[in-house]
Amino acid sequence: MRTIEEIIHDEELHSFSNDSCALAGAVNIPYAATVVRDMLQVQQHRGEKSVGIVSSKGDRFYAIREMGKVDEVFPIAQMKSIQAELPGSMAIGHTRYATRGLADYVSNIQPFIFNETKFGHFAFAHNGQLVDINKIHKTLLQRGAVFQSKSDSELLAHVIAKSDKKSFHSALKNDLAKIPCSYSALVETDLEIIGFRDPFGVRPLSIARKGNGYLIASETVAFRLFPDAEFIRHIEPGEIVVFNKKKIKAKEKPKSMQMNIPIEIKELADAKNQSEFHCIFEQIYFQDPRSEANGFMHEDFRQRCGRQVYLENKEFFDEMRVRHGSNLVVVPILDSGKQGAIGFSRESGILYKEYFMRRHNAPHSSGRSYTAHNQRLRILIAGMKLDLRKEKVLGKTVITVDDSNVRGTTARTNNERLRDAGAREIYNVYLSPTIENVCYLGMDHQNLKELIAYRKKSLEGIAKEIFADRIFHISLAGLNSIVNDTYKMGICTGCFGGKYPVDL
Ligand code: 5GP
Ligand code: MG
Repeated sequence: MRTIEEIIHDEELHSFSNDSCALAGAVNIPYAATVVRDMLQVQQHRGEKSVGIVSSKGDRFYAIREMGKVDEVFPIAQMKSIQAELPGSMAIGHTRYATRGLADYVSNIQPFIFNETKFGHFAFAHNGQLVDINKIHKTLLQRGAVFQSKSDSELLAHVIAKSDKKSFHSALKNDLAKIPCSYSALVETDLEIIGFRDPFGVRPLSIARKGNGYLIASETVAFRLFPDAEFIRHIEPGEIVVFNKKKIKAKEKPKSMQMNIPIEIKELADAKNQSEFHCIFEQIYFQDPRSEANGFMHEDFRQRCGRQVYLENKEFFDEMRVRHGSNLVVVPILDSGKQGAIGFSRESGILYKEYFMRRHNAPHSSGRSYTAHNQRLRILIAGMKLDLRKEKVLGKTVITVDDSNVRGTTARTNNERLRDAGAREIYNVYLSPTIENVCYLGMDHQNLKELIAYRKKSLEGIAKEIFADRIFHISLAGLNSIVNDTYKMGICTGCFGGKYPVDL
Protein backbone atom coordinates (compact mmCIF):
# COMPACT_ATOMS: atom_id res chain seq x y z
CA MET A 1 0.00 0.00 0.00
CA ARG A 2 1.27 3.46 -0.82
CA THR A 3 1.91 5.84 2.02
CA ILE A 4 -0.19 8.94 2.45
CA GLU A 5 2.84 11.05 1.44
CA GLU A 6 3.15 9.12 -1.82
CA ILE A 7 -0.52 9.50 -2.59
CA ILE A 8 -0.37 13.24 -1.89
CA HIS A 9 2.71 13.63 -4.04
CA ASP A 10 1.31 11.76 -7.05
CA GLU A 11 -2.12 13.26 -6.97
CA GLU A 12 -1.11 16.82 -6.40
CA LEU A 13 1.38 16.83 -9.22
CA HIS A 14 -1.43 16.02 -11.60
CA SER A 15 -4.12 18.12 -10.09
CA PHE A 16 -5.74 21.00 -11.84
CA SER A 17 -7.05 23.47 -9.88
CA ASN A 18 -7.71 28.77 -9.21
CA ASP A 19 -8.55 30.59 -6.38
CA SER A 20 -10.24 31.12 -3.11
CA CYS A 21 -7.47 33.00 -1.42
CA ALA A 22 -6.52 35.43 1.31
CA LEU A 23 -5.44 38.99 0.60
CA ALA A 24 -3.67 41.35 2.99
CA GLY A 25 -2.20 44.82 2.53
CA ALA A 26 -0.66 47.54 4.70
CA VAL A 27 0.01 51.19 3.82
CA ASN A 28 2.06 53.60 5.86
CA ILE A 29 2.62 51.00 8.55
CA PRO A 30 6.08 50.39 10.08
CA TYR A 31 7.37 46.93 9.18
CA ALA A 32 4.47 46.52 6.75
CA ALA A 33 5.63 43.07 5.55
CA THR A 34 5.52 41.68 9.10
CA VAL A 35 2.01 43.01 9.62
CA VAL A 36 0.92 41.52 6.29
CA ARG A 37 2.52 38.23 7.23
CA ASP A 38 0.47 38.07 10.44
CA MET A 39 -2.77 38.99 8.65
CA LEU A 40 -2.12 36.19 6.18
CA GLN A 41 -1.51 33.68 8.92
CA VAL A 42 -4.87 34.30 10.63
CA GLN A 43 -6.48 33.91 7.22
CA GLN A 44 -4.58 30.74 6.41
CA HIS A 45 -7.87 28.79 6.21
CA ARG A 46 -8.47 30.63 2.90
CA GLY A 47 -5.54 28.89 1.27
CA GLU A 48 -2.46 27.01 2.23
CA LYS A 49 -0.88 25.97 -1.04
CA SER A 50 1.40 28.97 -1.43
CA VAL A 51 2.15 32.32 0.12
CA GLY A 52 3.80 35.52 -1.07
CA ILE A 53 4.52 39.03 0.15
CA VAL A 54 5.72 41.96 -1.97
CA SER A 55 6.87 45.08 -0.17
CA SER A 56 7.61 48.41 -1.74
CA LYS A 57 10.30 50.91 -0.82
CA GLY A 58 11.52 53.82 -2.92
CA ASP A 59 11.12 52.73 -6.52
CA ARG A 60 11.72 49.02 -5.86
CA PHE A 61 9.70 45.93 -5.02
CA TYR A 62 11.01 43.26 -2.66
CA ALA A 63 9.41 39.82 -2.80
CA ILE A 64 9.34 36.43 -1.10
CA ARG A 65 6.97 33.94 -2.72
CA GLU A 66 7.01 30.22 -2.08
CA MET A 67 4.94 27.07 -1.89
CA GLY A 68 3.83 26.21 1.63
CA LYS A 69 2.09 27.75 4.61
CA VAL A 70 2.71 31.14 6.16
CA ASP A 71 4.67 29.85 9.16
CA GLU A 72 6.78 27.64 6.92
CA VAL A 73 7.72 30.36 4.43
CA PHE A 74 7.84 33.18 7.00
CA PRO A 75 8.85 31.49 10.30
CA ILE A 76 8.48 33.74 13.33
CA ALA A 77 12.02 32.79 14.37
CA GLN A 78 13.35 34.40 11.21
CA MET A 79 11.27 37.56 11.29
CA LYS A 80 14.30 39.83 11.71
CA SER A 81 15.91 38.67 8.48
CA ILE A 82 12.55 38.59 6.69
CA GLN A 83 12.01 42.20 7.71
CA ALA A 84 15.39 43.06 6.26
CA GLU A 85 14.51 41.30 2.99
CA LEU A 86 11.10 42.96 2.73
CA PRO A 87 11.68 46.58 3.76
CA GLY A 88 9.27 49.47 3.51
CA SER A 89 6.06 50.79 5.01
CA MET A 90 3.89 49.29 2.26
CA ALA A 91 3.27 45.64 1.37
CA ILE A 92 0.68 43.28 -0.09
CA GLY A 93 0.38 39.53 0.41
CA HIS A 94 -1.58 36.53 -0.78
CA THR A 95 -2.14 32.92 0.23
CA ARG A 96 -3.44 30.59 -2.39
CA TYR A 97 -6.04 27.86 -2.40
CA ALA A 98 -5.89 26.42 -5.85
CA THR A 99 -9.12 25.50 -7.55
CA ARG A 100 -7.90 25.77 -11.17
CA GLY A 101 -4.47 25.98 -12.77
CA LEU A 102 -1.75 23.64 -11.54
CA ALA A 103 -1.85 23.76 -7.79
CA ASP A 104 1.85 23.52 -7.26
CA TYR A 105 2.96 25.44 -10.27
CA VAL A 106 5.59 27.78 -8.83
CA SER A 107 4.90 30.55 -11.33
CA ASN A 108 1.28 30.70 -10.10
CA ILE A 109 2.38 32.01 -6.72
CA GLN A 110 1.03 35.51 -6.04
CA PRO A 111 1.41 38.47 -5.74
CA PHE A 112 2.54 38.71 -9.36
CA ILE A 113 5.02 41.42 -10.25
CA PHE A 114 4.82 43.16 -13.63
CA ASN A 115 8.12 44.95 -13.92
CA GLU A 116 7.41 46.96 -17.01
CA THR A 117 4.12 48.20 -18.38
CA LYS A 118 3.19 51.53 -19.94
CA PHE A 119 1.89 52.53 -16.52
CA GLY A 120 5.14 51.61 -14.81
CA HIS A 121 5.57 48.58 -12.58
CA PHE A 122 2.97 47.07 -10.29
CA ALA A 123 2.41 44.06 -8.09
CA PHE A 124 -0.95 42.31 -8.13
CA ALA A 125 -2.84 39.80 -5.97
CA HIS A 126 -6.26 38.34 -6.72
CA ASN A 127 -8.94 36.39 -4.86
CA GLY A 128 -11.71 34.96 -6.98
CA GLN A 129 -12.19 33.22 -10.25
CA LEU A 130 -12.78 34.91 -13.57
CA VAL A 131 -15.64 33.77 -15.78
CA ASP A 132 -15.91 33.50 -19.47
CA ILE A 133 -12.29 34.38 -20.05
CA ASN A 134 -11.40 31.95 -22.82
CA LYS A 135 -12.23 34.49 -25.50
CA ILE A 136 -10.21 37.28 -23.86
CA HIS A 137 -7.36 34.87 -23.22
CA LYS A 138 -7.32 33.76 -26.83
CA THR A 139 -7.50 37.30 -28.18
CA LEU A 140 -4.62 38.35 -25.93
CA LEU A 141 -2.52 35.39 -27.04
CA GLN A 142 -3.23 36.11 -30.68
CA ARG A 143 -2.12 39.70 -30.18
CA GLY A 144 1.16 38.36 -28.83
CA ALA A 145 0.61 38.50 -25.08
CA VAL A 146 3.01 36.43 -22.97
CA PHE A 147 1.73 34.79 -19.78
CA GLN A 148 4.06 33.77 -17.01
CA SER A 149 1.50 31.66 -15.13
CA LYS A 150 -1.41 29.26 -15.62
CA SER A 151 -3.53 31.40 -13.35
CA ASP A 152 -6.59 33.30 -14.56
CA SER A 153 -5.50 36.12 -12.22
CA GLU A 154 -2.78 37.22 -14.57
CA LEU A 155 -5.38 37.99 -17.18
CA LEU A 156 -6.80 40.85 -15.12
CA ALA A 157 -3.37 42.47 -15.03
CA HIS A 158 -3.14 42.17 -18.82
CA VAL A 159 -6.53 43.78 -19.21
CA ILE A 160 -5.38 46.74 -17.09
CA ALA A 161 -2.03 47.06 -18.85
CA LYS A 162 -3.62 46.93 -22.32
CA SER A 163 -6.13 49.67 -21.58
CA ASP A 164 -6.22 52.53 -24.08
CA LYS A 165 -6.69 54.99 -21.21
CA LYS A 166 -3.89 57.44 -20.44
CA SER A 167 -3.53 56.96 -16.68
CA PHE A 168 -3.37 53.89 -14.46
CA HIS A 169 -6.39 54.99 -12.43
CA SER A 170 -8.57 55.57 -15.46
CA ALA A 171 -7.49 52.21 -16.87
CA LEU A 172 -8.69 50.56 -13.67
CA LYS A 173 -11.92 52.54 -13.70
CA ASN A 174 -12.66 51.86 -17.31
CA ASP A 175 -11.46 48.38 -18.14
CA LEU A 176 -11.75 46.18 -15.04
CA ALA A 177 -15.50 45.77 -15.15
CA LYS A 178 -15.31 44.36 -18.67
CA ILE A 179 -14.57 41.14 -16.84
CA PRO A 180 -17.62 40.95 -14.62
CA CYS A 181 -16.48 38.61 -11.85
CA SER A 182 -15.27 37.32 -9.60
CA TYR A 183 -12.45 39.29 -8.09
CA SER A 184 -11.31 41.08 -5.02
CA ALA A 185 -7.80 42.32 -5.61
CA LEU A 186 -4.88 44.40 -4.43
CA VAL A 187 -2.51 46.34 -6.67
CA GLU A 188 0.72 47.87 -5.40
CA THR A 189 2.82 50.61 -7.00
CA ASP A 190 5.62 52.75 -5.59
CA LEU A 191 3.26 55.08 -3.80
CA GLU A 192 -0.08 53.31 -3.69
CA ILE A 193 -2.00 50.25 -2.77
CA ILE A 194 -5.27 49.98 -4.63
CA GLY A 195 -8.03 47.63 -3.49
CA PHE A 196 -11.10 46.78 -5.54
CA ARG A 197 -14.03 44.37 -5.74
CA ASP A 198 -15.90 43.20 -8.81
CA PRO A 199 -19.21 44.90 -9.70
CA PHE A 200 -21.24 42.04 -8.18
CA GLY A 201 -19.25 41.96 -4.93
CA VAL A 202 -18.76 38.20 -5.01
CA ARG A 203 -15.61 38.02 -2.85
CA PRO A 204 -14.95 40.16 0.24
CA LEU A 205 -12.40 42.92 0.95
CA SER A 206 -12.33 45.21 3.98
CA ILE A 207 -10.47 48.23 5.33
CA ALA A 208 -9.17 49.07 8.80
CA ARG A 209 -7.27 51.97 10.26
CA LYS A 210 -4.09 51.27 12.25
CA GLY A 211 -2.03 54.11 13.72
CA ASN A 212 -1.32 56.53 10.89
CA GLY A 213 -1.87 53.88 8.25
CA TYR A 214 -4.39 51.49 6.73
CA LEU A 215 -4.85 47.74 6.55
CA ILE A 216 -6.79 45.89 3.87
CA ALA A 217 -7.79 42.24 4.19
CA SER A 218 -10.15 39.62 2.82
CA GLU A 219 -11.61 39.01 6.27
CA THR A 220 -12.16 41.32 9.23
CA VAL A 221 -10.69 38.64 11.51
CA ALA A 222 -7.28 39.82 10.25
CA PHE A 223 -7.78 43.19 11.99
CA ARG A 224 -8.63 41.62 15.34
CA LEU A 225 -4.97 40.68 15.75
CA PHE A 226 -3.95 44.25 16.44
CA PRO A 227 -5.32 46.04 19.48
CA ASP A 228 -4.78 49.40 17.78
CA ALA A 229 -6.52 48.45 14.53
CA GLU A 230 -10.07 49.56 13.92
CA PHE A 231 -12.27 48.10 11.21
CA ILE A 232 -13.72 50.89 9.11
CA ARG A 233 -15.78 49.43 6.28
CA HIS A 234 -15.98 46.96 3.40
CA ILE A 235 -14.97 48.00 -0.07
CA GLU A 236 -18.24 48.20 -2.04
CA PRO A 237 -19.03 46.11 -5.12
CA GLY A 238 -17.52 47.87 -8.14
CA GLU A 239 -15.54 50.27 -5.94
CA ILE A 240 -11.84 51.06 -6.30
CA VAL A 241 -10.08 52.50 -3.24
CA VAL A 242 -6.70 54.16 -3.62
CA PHE A 243 -4.41 54.33 -0.60
CA ASN A 244 -1.65 56.78 -1.43
CA LYS A 245 1.17 56.65 1.09
CA LYS A 246 2.12 60.31 0.87
CA LYS A 247 -1.46 61.54 1.07
CA ILE A 248 -2.18 59.25 4.02
CA LYS A 249 0.90 60.64 5.77
CA ALA A 250 -0.56 64.06 5.15
CA LYS A 251 -3.78 62.81 6.86
CA GLU A 252 -5.80 62.71 3.66
CA LYS A 253 -8.48 60.02 3.35
CA PRO A 254 -8.11 57.20 0.79
CA LYS A 255 -9.69 58.07 -2.54
CA SER A 256 -12.75 56.12 -3.70
CA MET A 257 -13.72 55.68 -7.37
CA GLN A 258 -16.47 53.73 -9.10
CA MET A 259 -15.80 51.36 -11.99
CA ASN A 260 -17.48 52.19 -15.28
CA ILE A 261 -19.77 49.23 -15.66
CA PRO A 262 -20.41 48.26 -19.30
CA ILE A 263 -24.07 48.38 -20.37
CA GLU A 264 -24.28 44.64 -21.00
CA ILE A 265 -23.23 43.93 -17.44
CA LYS A 266 -25.68 46.47 -16.01
CA GLU A 267 -28.36 44.75 -18.06
CA LEU A 268 -27.44 41.39 -16.57
CA ALA A 269 -28.08 42.71 -13.10
CA ASP A 270 -31.27 44.51 -14.13
CA ALA A 271 -32.64 41.36 -15.72
CA LYS A 272 -32.10 39.53 -12.45
CA ASN A 273 -33.45 42.33 -10.34
CA GLN A 274 -30.38 42.11 -8.18
CA SER A 275 -27.10 44.04 -8.27
CA GLU A 276 -25.07 42.43 -5.49
CA PHE A 277 -24.19 38.72 -5.52
CA HIS A 278 -21.99 38.14 -2.50
CA CYS A 279 -20.99 34.50 -2.08
CA ILE A 280 -22.88 33.35 1.02
CA PHE A 281 -20.64 30.31 1.23
CA GLU A 282 -18.04 32.76 2.59
CA GLN A 283 -20.28 33.14 5.65
CA ILE A 284 -21.61 29.60 5.86
CA TYR A 285 -18.30 27.89 5.64
CA PHE A 286 -15.26 29.61 4.28
CA GLN A 287 -14.52 32.54 6.61
CA ASP A 288 -13.40 32.52 10.18
CA PRO A 289 -16.48 32.54 12.45
CA ARG A 290 -15.15 35.75 14.07
CA SER A 291 -15.10 37.63 10.79
CA GLU A 292 -18.03 39.88 10.06
CA ALA A 293 -19.97 41.42 7.22
CA ASN A 294 -22.22 44.50 7.42
CA GLY A 295 -21.86 44.55 11.18
CA PHE A 296 -22.92 40.96 11.73
CA MET A 297 -20.57 38.23 12.93
CA HIS A 298 -20.52 34.92 11.08
CA GLU A 299 -20.64 32.82 14.25
CA ASP A 300 -24.01 34.41 15.12
CA PHE A 301 -25.23 33.87 11.57
CA ARG A 302 -24.29 30.19 11.71
CA GLN A 303 -26.10 29.79 15.03
CA ARG A 304 -29.20 31.22 13.43
CA CYS A 305 -28.89 28.80 10.53
CA GLY A 306 -28.72 25.87 12.97
CA ARG A 307 -31.76 27.18 14.83
CA GLN A 308 -33.59 27.59 11.52
CA VAL A 309 -33.15 23.93 10.51
CA TYR A 310 -34.65 22.91 13.85
CA LEU A 311 -37.57 25.31 13.46
CA GLU A 312 -38.24 24.08 9.92
CA ASN A 313 -38.49 20.50 11.24
CA LYS A 314 -39.67 21.19 14.76
CA GLU A 315 -42.30 18.49 14.97
CA PHE A 316 -39.87 15.76 13.94
CA PHE A 317 -37.13 16.74 16.36
CA ASP A 318 -39.50 17.39 19.27
CA GLU A 319 -40.92 13.92 18.84
CA MET A 320 -37.36 12.50 18.81
CA ARG A 321 -36.51 14.34 22.00
CA VAL A 322 -39.51 12.87 23.76
CA ARG A 323 -38.72 9.38 22.43
CA HIS A 324 -34.97 9.30 23.17
CA GLY A 325 -34.60 11.64 26.12
CA SER A 326 -30.96 12.08 27.12
CA ASN A 327 -29.88 9.45 24.56
CA LEU A 328 -30.45 12.04 21.85
CA VAL A 329 -27.46 14.30 21.19
CA VAL A 330 -26.43 17.08 18.81
CA VAL A 331 -22.85 16.57 17.56
CA PRO A 332 -20.98 19.27 15.63
CA ILE A 333 -18.74 18.32 12.73
CA LEU A 334 -15.84 20.57 13.68
CA ASP A 335 -14.90 23.22 12.99
CA SER A 336 -17.40 24.78 10.66
CA GLY A 337 -20.45 22.90 11.97
CA LYS A 338 -19.88 24.05 15.55
CA GLN A 339 -21.88 27.27 15.73
CA GLY A 340 -24.80 25.75 13.88
CA ALA A 341 -24.88 22.84 16.32
CA ILE A 342 -24.91 25.28 19.23
CA GLY A 343 -27.82 27.20 17.68
CA PHE A 344 -29.71 23.98 17.00
CA SER A 345 -29.12 22.67 20.52
CA ARG A 346 -30.12 25.90 22.26
CA GLU A 347 -33.38 26.22 20.39
CA SER A 348 -34.35 22.53 20.57
CA GLY A 349 -33.14 21.78 24.09
CA ILE A 350 -31.29 18.71 22.74
CA LEU A 351 -27.90 18.11 24.42
CA TYR A 352 -24.80 19.41 22.63
CA LYS A 353 -21.88 16.93 22.66
CA GLU A 354 -18.49 17.18 20.97
CA TYR A 355 -18.10 13.47 20.19
CA PHE A 356 -15.76 14.23 17.33
CA MET A 357 -12.65 16.00 18.58
CA ARG A 358 -10.56 17.99 16.15
CA ARG A 359 -6.97 16.74 16.10
CA HIS A 360 -4.97 19.91 15.70
CA ASN A 361 -1.56 18.25 15.79
CA ALA A 362 -2.01 14.94 13.99
CA PRO A 363 -0.43 14.24 10.59
CA HIS A 364 -2.27 16.16 7.86
CA SER A 365 -4.87 17.26 10.37
CA SER A 366 -4.41 20.97 9.87
CA GLY A 367 -5.14 20.59 6.18
CA ARG A 368 -8.61 20.57 4.76
CA SER A 369 -9.46 17.00 3.77
CA TYR A 370 -11.75 18.52 1.20
CA THR A 371 -8.89 19.94 -0.89
CA ALA A 372 -7.16 16.61 -1.42
CA HIS A 373 -7.37 15.65 -5.04
CA ASN A 374 -8.53 12.09 -4.86
CA GLN A 375 -11.25 10.32 -3.02
CA ARG A 376 -9.12 7.80 -1.14
CA LEU A 377 -6.96 10.57 0.24
CA ARG A 378 -10.02 12.63 1.25
CA ILE A 379 -11.37 9.71 3.24
CA LEU A 380 -8.01 9.11 4.90
CA ILE A 381 -7.59 12.73 5.93
CA ALA A 382 -11.24 13.11 6.98
CA GLY A 383 -10.66 10.21 9.39
CA MET A 384 -7.40 11.61 10.74
CA LYS A 385 -8.81 15.07 11.26
CA LEU A 386 -11.61 14.08 13.59
CA ASP A 387 -11.10 11.70 16.48
CA LEU A 388 -14.36 9.94 17.38
CA ARG A 389 -14.91 9.41 21.11
CA LYS A 390 -16.32 5.94 20.47
CA GLU A 391 -16.84 5.16 24.13
CA LYS A 392 -19.60 7.77 24.32
CA VAL A 393 -21.59 6.82 21.23
CA LEU A 394 -22.98 3.37 22.03
CA GLY A 395 -26.80 3.42 22.14
CA LYS A 396 -27.07 7.12 21.31
CA THR A 397 -29.19 8.66 18.58
CA VAL A 398 -27.00 11.26 16.97
CA ILE A 399 -27.87 14.46 15.09
CA THR A 400 -24.71 15.73 13.41
CA VAL A 401 -24.48 19.34 12.24
CA ASP A 402 -22.14 20.37 9.42
CA ASP A 403 -22.05 23.42 7.18
CA SER A 404 -22.50 21.56 3.93
CA ASN A 405 -22.59 18.29 2.07
CA VAL A 406 -20.72 18.51 -1.20
CA ARG A 407 -19.44 15.16 -2.41
CA GLY A 408 -20.66 13.33 0.67
CA THR A 409 -17.19 12.21 1.72
CA THR A 410 -17.16 13.82 5.15
CA ALA A 411 -20.67 12.69 5.96
CA ARG A 412 -20.24 9.13 4.81
CA THR A 413 -16.94 8.71 6.63
CA ASN A 414 -18.35 10.09 9.88
CA ASN A 415 -21.66 8.27 9.70
CA GLU A 416 -19.90 5.00 9.09
CA ARG A 417 -17.71 5.56 12.12
CA LEU A 418 -20.70 6.46 14.26
CA ARG A 419 -22.49 3.26 13.18
CA ASP A 420 -19.41 1.19 13.96
CA ALA A 421 -19.33 2.75 17.41
CA GLY A 422 -22.91 1.65 18.03
CA ALA A 423 -25.02 4.72 17.29
CA ARG A 424 -28.72 3.74 17.10
CA GLU A 425 -29.94 6.26 14.57
CA ILE A 426 -28.10 8.99 12.69
CA TYR A 427 -29.54 12.25 11.39
CA ASN A 428 -27.49 14.83 9.49
CA VAL A 429 -28.27 18.54 9.61
CA TYR A 430 -26.74 21.03 7.15
CA LEU A 431 -26.49 24.81 7.45
CA SER A 432 -26.61 25.27 3.67
CA PRO A 433 -29.27 24.22 1.17
CA THR A 434 -28.43 21.26 -1.09
CA ILE A 435 -25.55 22.05 -3.43
CA GLU A 436 -26.99 21.12 -6.80
CA ASN A 437 -24.84 23.15 -9.10
CA VAL A 438 -21.20 24.05 -9.56
CA CYS A 439 -19.51 27.24 -8.40
CA TYR A 440 -17.45 28.92 -11.09
CA LEU A 441 -16.77 32.00 -8.98
CA GLY A 442 -14.15 30.66 -6.59
CA MET A 443 -15.63 28.02 -4.28
CA ASP A 444 -14.31 24.59 -4.76
CA HIS A 445 -17.48 22.90 -6.01
CA GLN A 446 -16.55 22.73 -9.63
CA ASN A 447 -17.32 19.27 -10.85
CA LEU A 448 -21.02 18.73 -11.38
CA LYS A 449 -20.83 14.96 -11.50
CA GLU A 450 -19.16 14.86 -8.10
CA LEU A 451 -21.95 16.72 -6.34
CA ILE A 452 -23.99 14.27 -4.34
CA ALA A 453 -27.17 16.40 -4.55
CA TYR A 454 -26.83 16.53 -8.32
CA ARG A 455 -26.24 12.80 -8.64
CA LYS A 456 -28.92 11.70 -6.20
CA LYS A 457 -31.71 14.21 -6.77
CA SER A 458 -33.71 13.21 -3.65
CA LEU A 459 -32.88 13.66 0.05
CA GLU A 460 -33.71 9.99 0.60
CA GLY A 461 -31.22 8.99 -2.09
CA ILE A 462 -28.51 11.13 -0.52
CA ALA A 463 -29.23 9.80 2.98
CA LYS A 464 -28.94 6.25 1.75
CA GLU A 465 -25.58 6.87 0.10
CA ILE A 466 -24.07 8.44 3.20
CA PHE A 467 -25.54 5.92 5.68
CA ALA A 468 -27.83 8.41 7.40
CA ASP A 469 -31.37 7.64 8.52
CA ARG A 470 -32.49 11.01 7.29
CA ILE A 471 -30.93 14.36 6.34
CA PHE A 472 -32.09 17.95 6.84
CA HIS A 473 -30.91 21.02 4.93
CA ILE A 474 -31.83 24.60 5.67
CA SER A 475 -34.32 25.75 3.02
CA LEU A 476 -33.24 28.41 0.54
CA ALA A 477 -36.15 30.58 1.72
CA GLY A 478 -35.00 30.12 5.33
CA LEU A 479 -31.43 31.06 4.43
CA ASN A 480 -32.60 34.13 2.49
CA SER A 481 -34.72 35.34 5.38
CA ILE A 482 -31.77 35.05 7.81
CA VAL A 483 -29.55 36.97 5.37
CA ASN A 484 -32.24 39.68 5.14
CA ASP A 485 -32.32 39.93 8.93
CA THR A 486 -28.55 39.95 9.37
CA TYR A 487 -26.19 40.96 6.57
CA LYS A 488 -28.90 42.61 4.46
CA MET A 489 -27.00 41.92 1.24
CA GLY A 490 -27.70 40.40 -2.15
CA ILE A 491 -26.27 36.88 -2.33
CA CYS A 492 -25.33 34.45 -5.07
CA THR A 493 -27.46 31.34 -4.74
CA GLY A 494 -26.30 29.70 -7.97
CA CYS A 495 -24.89 26.54 -6.38
CA PHE A 496 -28.15 26.01 -4.45
CA GLY A 497 -30.10 25.97 -7.69
CA GLY A 498 -30.80 29.76 -7.52
CA LYS A 499 -29.34 32.80 -9.35
CA TYR A 500 -25.73 33.35 -10.40
CA PRO A 501 -24.66 36.91 -11.32
CA VAL A 502 -23.63 35.69 -14.77
CA ASP A 503 -25.02 32.63 -16.50
CA LEU A 504 -22.57 30.53 -18.41
P1 5GP B 1 -17.81 16.70 1.28
O1 5GP B 1 -16.98 15.93 2.25
O2 5GP B 1 -19.27 16.37 1.33
O3 5GP B 1 -17.28 16.65 -0.11
O4 5GP B 1 -17.70 18.24 1.67
C1 5GP B 1 -18.31 18.74 2.81
C2 5GP B 1 -17.29 19.14 3.83
O5 5GP B 1 -16.24 19.90 3.22
C3 5GP B 1 -17.90 20.00 4.90
O6 5GP B 1 -17.46 19.49 6.15
C4 5GP B 1 -17.36 21.40 4.64
O7 5GP B 1 -16.91 21.97 5.88
C5 5GP B 1 -16.24 21.23 3.68
N1 5GP B 1 -16.39 22.09 2.47
C6 5GP B 1 -17.47 22.41 1.78
N2 5GP B 1 -17.18 23.22 0.72
C7 5GP B 1 -15.87 23.40 0.74
C8 5GP B 1 -14.95 24.12 -0.11
O8 5GP B 1 -15.29 24.81 -1.09
N3 5GP B 1 -13.65 24.03 0.25
C9 5GP B 1 -13.24 23.31 1.32
N4 5GP B 1 -11.96 23.27 1.61
N5 5GP B 1 -14.07 22.64 2.11
C10 5GP B 1 -15.37 22.67 1.83
MG1 MG C 1 -16.00 20.71 7.45
